Amino acid sequence: MSIRDNVARILRELPPGVELVAAAKTKTPAEILEAVEAGVVLIGENYVQEAAEAFAAVSRRARWHFIGHLQSNKVKKAVEIFDAIETVDSSDLAREIDKRCRNAGKTMSVQIEINSGEEDQKFGVAPAAAEALIREIAPLPNLRIEGLMTMGPFEGDPEAARPYFRITKGLFDRIGTLAIPGVEMKRLSMGMTNSYRVALEEGANRIRLGTLIFGPRG
Ligand SMILES: *Cc1c(COP(=O)(O)O)cnc(C)c1O
Repeated sequence: MSIRDNVARILRELPPGVELVAAAKTKTPAEILEAVEAGVVLIGENYVQEAAEAFAAVSRRARWHFIGHLQSNKVKKAVEIFDAIETVDSSDLAREIDKRCRNAGKTMSVQIEINSGEEDQKFGVAPAAAEALIREIAPLPNLRIEGLMTMGPFEGDPEAARPYFRITKGLFDRIGTLAIPGVEMKRLSMGMTNSYRVALEEGANRIRLGTLIFGPRG
């Protein structure tokens, strides 16, 4: 199957209101362009340098979401390229993004990455610490907190991811009811190629697919 056919099929199957992020790590600018021409509007990138190369080819024909672990020395460059950063997990990172956005005259959409699997993964804020982090960074003027993101377990039985998706959805709903100024819980980004069906059942409204669009990574 071509990238074009994969994208067309996925977009046809996507429930209304669900956004597709094409997770493009290791893919060439030409492959990413093919996905965009087939209807992808959100590109997910894990590495700022790789994104810069793809961005040079695709530019603003798509919107760019950072979905990797963002190091503070890459924030300045990330702010130039990305429309959203889905993986904010500390107040230091949030402050750095805010500062660089202020210098660039930009407001950044962000999501808070939840380490829903707790000790299984390194990145993301623990579910129990998410509310405090959000309350702390909500006043930053150049950030718009728009939801949550989680990874869950990488592979294996997709059912194994369900409890982590459920925890994250519970947090999403609860934080949404707190009406914290500057915080809107509208996007819940969870589910990858092996787990997106489960994620959708558990309330994801944004899924991030790489392999299903582009084929296996080398
Ligand atoms: C690579 C990646 C994906 C997509 O993974 P696939 O299994 O190829 O669909 C989704 N989210 C993040 C954060 C990723 O790094």
